[in-house]
Amino acid sequence: MGEPINCREAAERLQDFLKQELTPELEAEMQAHLERCRPCFDEARFEANFVLMLEVRARRVECPAALRARIARLLQSEMERG
Ligand SMILES: [Zn+2]
Repeated sequence: MGEPINCREAAERLQDFLKQELTPELEAEMQAHLERCRPCFDEARFEANFVLMLEVRARRVECPAALRARIARLLQSEMERG
């Protein structure tokens, strides 16, 4: 595991995280941060909806449900804890 990231770094990486453009290592750091930082998790969830909307518009995604599921998986940790 790398160094824990702070909220500023999390914010900088959020877009790439949602688009799954981070390396697995950076993605794991983001995931770890979101699991323990409620404000960043809320921001990520908000941004996820926005990214989803943009992608559906831009690419005319035929199956937004698949994209939604992919993003939901990224944010899944919170849901699993209820
Ligand atoms: Zn944070």
